[in-house]
Amino acid sequence: MTALVHTRAGLQPFLDGFANGKRGVAMTMGALHEGHLELLKKARHDCDLVVATIFVNPLQFGPNEDFDRYPRTLDDDLKLCAEAGVDVVYAPAVEEVYPGGQPIVKVTPGPMGEVLEGAFRPGFFTGVLTIVNKLLNLTDPHMAFFGQKDAQQLALVRRMVLDLNMPVEIVGVPTVRDEDGLAKSSRNRYLSPEERTTALTLSRALFAGQEKTTDGADAVREAASAVLEPAAQAGRIDVDYLALVDPRDFSEVSPTFSGEAVLALAARVGTTRLIDNLPLILTSPGAR
Ligand code: AMP
Repeated sequence: MTALVHTRAGLQPFLDGFANGKRGVAMTMGALHEGHLELLKKARHDCDLVVATIFVNPLQFGPNEDFDRYPRTLDDDLKLCAEAGVDVVYAPAVEEVYPGGQPIVKVTPGPMGEVLEGAFRPGFFTGVLTIVNKLLNLTDPHMAFFGQKDAQQLALVRRMVLDLNMPVEIVGVPTVRDEDGLAKSSRNRYLSPEERTTALTLSRALFAGQEKTTDGADAVREAASAVLEPAAQAGRIDVDYLALVDPRDFSEVSPTFSGEAVLALAARVGTTRLIDNLPLILTSPGAR
C-alpha cells in the first residue's frame, strides 16, 4: 500500500524504517503518466524504500507560464504510485518547501542553464536545481531518478551533484513515448485531437535526424529541420529551438563532431509548449 504524507515529519518514520536500506526518490509535479511510472518502477527495482514527491514548484514557472493551470490529479497519481509499488508519496505544501518565503539563496546553474530551455525560460533552471536540492535534503535518498525526457535538466542535476559534492547517485531513465512516437508529458492533456496530431511533428523530426547520424552533425540538423519547417511555415507549430548539443555542457556540436550528442527541440502547438529530445551517437563524415 502506498502511504501519502504532506509533511517532513510524516515522512520521517519511513526514512527511519529504512535507515540501513537503500532509499530512492523520484521527483514529480504530479499529473502522473507512464513516463513517471517508468521512473518509479526503476526506483522500485533498485531501492528498498521508494519515495515519490509530488510538488508543483512555483519557483520554476515564469510569470506568463502555466503554474495556475498545471494539472493537479492527486487521486489518480496515488493509484499510479500504488501500481508502481511506491512506498510513500510526499506531497508537501509550499510553506514547508519554502519556509523562509521567497528564497534568498538559490542554486545557480551557470552557462549550461542559460542555453536552450534556459534561454527561453529565464530562471527556470535556477528554480529546478533549487527545488531538486531542497527535495534531496528533505527526502535524504541514496539514489534519485530523473527522465531523459528533460535532458538538459538531467545533465544539470548530474553536474550539480558533481560540482557540489552531493552524496546521491543520479539515475537517468529513457523517455517513454506513445506508440506513435509522441513523448509522454503531463502537458499532452492540454492538446486537442488535432493539436496532438500536429505534435507528432516533434518526434518525427527527431527520428528523421536520427537516420542521419552517420552523415555528420549538419545532416542530422537538416533532416530534423526539414520535418519541422513545413509545419512551422503553415503556422501549425512555433519552434523555439532545434539544437544538436554535447550532453556534457549542452553546447552546439561542430560539423565534424563524433560521439554522443543530444538532438533537442522545443515548440509550441497552440498554447501548449512541448519539449523532446533523442540521445544520438554521431559519426562525422570526415571520420569515416
Ligand atoms: P515532471 O512531473 O514533468 O516534472 O517530471 C518528473 C520526472 O519524470 C522528471 O525526471 C521527468 O524527466 C520524468 N519524465 C517526464 N516525462 C517522462 C517520459 N515521457 N519518459 C521518462 N521520464 C519522464
